Amino acid sequence: MGLGIKKVFKKIKFGKSQYLEGEDKKLRPTTPTKCPYREDGDCKDCEIFLKDIRDRKTGPSHPIHVYGCRIHKHFFTVYPHGFTPFGRKLIWLVGETISVMKKLVRTYFDAPIDGVNSIKWPIIWYPQLFEKPAKNEEKREEKKDKNTEGLKEIKGSFKTQKRHIDGLCCLFGIDKKSDDSRLRHISDLTGLSILNIRDAFDQQSRDGPRTYKSKSVSLESLLSKTKNMTLNQMLRLGSLVDYWADIRG
Ligand SMILES: [Zn+2]
Repeated sequence: MGLGIKKVFKKIKFGKSQYLEGEDKKLRPTTPTKCPYREDGDCKDCEIFLKDIRDRKTGPSHPIHVYGCRIHKHFFTVYPHGFTPFGRKLIWLVGETISVMKKLVRTYFDAPIDGVNSIKWPIIWYPQLFEKPAKNEEKREEKKDKNTEGLKEIKGSFKTQKRHIDGLCCLFGIDKKSDDSRLRHISDLTGLSILNIRDAFDQQSRDGPRTYKSKSVSLESLLSKTKNMTLNQMLRLGSLVDYWADIRG
């Protein structure tokens, strides 16, 4: 399951770090110099040590590093740039300051990108070498009709696609729960006007009940109006809607 954009992780502070190749050709994160529990103005320097390297059932599909801070007496997980706690996919491309959704392939934005094109998950592709489970034959036939045959990815169920779309709509304030105060914060962070955000929300139900497609289309049109958003801005949006703790730095 991709749990990365879901409202359950507000209290989990986390770090992010760049992965560099060591002499042994293995990638590992650079050790952070500050822990996420160090408050602004705290004059005590952190003493960070590596506690563990853990296999994860969720999160990026490789072991991730857990560090501790002797000064602030906490452990914290360090995620690669672009990832959020427990997220299987990138929330944003590292180093990119782009606003066009189509460039966000292979992130959580896959869900609305497919949604805009009426492509419903699952998108299942089996290499010809493997015997295929009979129950998926029907789905494969369905995909042929939608010209997605041969797409070499398994992107999760329709439920997952809808969850990712709803999560992204929530990040950008185009959901029922965003009140004026939240919209103001989102507007400050994204540079989008509150009017733009409200329009995008109204657009979702203009032609009938809100669907995965209408939400995707409104998300795309809203994103086309953003300017140069960065990973840190995305992380702050997530913190604002309680998806994860605020990120420092
Ligand atoms: Zn510390």
